[in-house]
Amino acid sequence: MVVLEYELNLSATEFLYFLDCPQKFRLYRILNPLPNKDDFMNSRRSLSSYEMRGYQGKKDDGIKYHHFFEKFHKKYAKVIHQTVPPEEISEDSIKLLYWINQQEKYIAAKDDCYWYPVEREVRLMTEKKRGQIDCIEFCEDKFGLRLIDYKPNPEPNDQLLLLFYATLYNEYQLENPNKDGLNYEVLEVGCYYYEMGIKEIFDLIEVNKKTFDSFFKEILEKIANNKFFIKKSSCWNCNYKYACNIEQRRS
Ligand code: SF4
Repeated sequence: MVVLEYELNLSATEFLYFLDCPQKFRLYRILNPLPNKDDFMNSRRSLSSYEMRGYQGKKDDGIKYHHFFEKFHKKYAKVIHQTVPPEEISEDSIKLLYWINQQEKYIAAKDDCYWYPVEREVRLMTEKKRGQIDCIEFCEDKFGLRLIDYKPNPEPNDQLLLLFYATLYNEYQLENPNKDGLNYEVLEVGCYYYEMGIKEIFDLIEVNKKTFDSFFKEILEKIANNKFFIKKSSCWNCNYKYACNIEQRRS
């Protein structure tokens, strides 16, 4: 496979696939060509993307809970101060954990604008990256933004994934300077682990962004130079093991 200059654009999933096994990235790209920017930014996250982000076997739940988090603030703004949550929330442990988390945030917030998200499920595509950011909030007292990714549980590459989204957002701002609502800098990033009800937030440090940028550039160079070597250590849970097997027997 030859990746042309204009195809050197990675989604968060493709980025993590390449780190896991460059051959996995290669097979994925053969099966899923690079989308057009307008189509990508105006579509919703696909079922398969939930599977690839670690929701194997749980993709229906992943979609259901992402949808619940997306609509939560609009639906429950009028009752979030109440001691007893609505029945449909009490019946589901993940929804209840989110309710408790959001109620604590609501009580601590100096103003509703720090509780209500600025944006949810935002799809962005730049020259080199694309992805969907689950939630964007204002950081209280800091005059900047916080990006949140919703995940069922922690995974080893979570901090890399957050740096991917933060740099994606910054690049989108630079490439689209006059776009409404994108005039604030990202100061914090974090994950909300919904099966545990835990939020982990980190300050976005300049040195981390620069280190990530050069790491990402190195990966693009490897892709441009067709360095799709095979890393056999992760084969047991690879979605592409059958296609990979056939390829290896053919070569
Ligand atoms: S089966 Fe193994 S070598 Fe093949 S793509 Fe998957 S992880 Fe890579």
